[in-house]
Amino acid sequence: MLILWQTSLLRRTKLTVRDEVSNGLSYYDYTFLTEVPRLYQMVERQVRDYAPALADQDIASFLRLGSWIGGDRDGHPNVTPGVTLDTLRAQRAAISAVYREAVAFLREHLTQSTDDLPPAGALRAAIAQQRDGDTLRFPGELYSEMLDIIWEKLGADSYGSGDDLLADLRQTRQISIILITHDISTSSDLADEVLVMYAGQLVEHSLSTTGYTKPLHPYAHGLMSSVPTLREDKKLEFIPGQPPSLINPPTGCRFAARCPRRFDRCDQEPPTFTVGNHGELVKCWLHAKG
Ligand code: SF4
Repeated sequence: MLILWQTSLLRRTKLTVRDEVSNGLSYYDYTFLTEVPRLYQMVERQVRDYAPALADQDIASFLRLGSWIGGDRDGHPNVTPGVTLDTLRAQRAAISAVYREAVAFLREHLTQSTDDLPPAGALRAAIAQQRDGDTLRFPGELYSEMLDIIWEKLGADSYGSGDDLLADLRQTRQISIILITHDISTSSDLADEVLVMYAGQLVEHSLSTTGYTKPLHPYAHGLMSSVPTLREDKKLEFIPGQPPSLINPPTGCRFAARCPRRFDRCDQEPPTFTVGNHGELVKCWLHAKG
């Protein structure tokens, strides 16, 4: 607030087109570059959910962003060919920096040892080809090694096209990550599938397209309803009571003592898994068929 108060309303120097370009690009990080991938991810999940036969196919590009800043060559005296070229370079550098940061994050976290998780031969071949006899920086951690190669290539601006970058990134996609967390918001951004545990047992397994928004198990429902979101104005709920003792667990459903939908059968026998309408697995008598 103090900085804002001490800042002049007007700058005394005239802005150049290059200033406009960098000003425009400064918004991208927290607008298009975060929301557009999220949009594609949502579409991918919906396709996978409602048209599983198409699940392995890439979603064709359906959104194209354009900006006239630095490219309005219709008589603007300060927008020269050199300025337009600089603008294109600045845009390319901005996108590269975003990818590079994301790749560095993955490089730090995909550290699975080759001994425990032998990678596919294609990944080994790609690394051998690209390192071309050079010493590996992450021997024994080939996912990190491949990501390091991508990170270096992005830094050297040596990708000829987005397809080349995608081809390298695909080498690192043959891996699954299990994220065990109480942070529902973060997991909803990352997960493709959701497994909800209660009192040492799996109670629901669903795709993330439905698991976060339409959970079936009453515990999963209570859990998701306790998470605040920015996108809707909802009343937060909580789950009263305590988890049961695992030394002497209840005879019937382990969630019964806290469940708002409990009925007689719940106390008599432990629920078994039922398959829901979207292929979910849920351990709750409410959804039992028969
Ligand atoms: S089995 Fe019964 S007590 Fe358990 S979660 Fe379902 S409705 Fe609630």
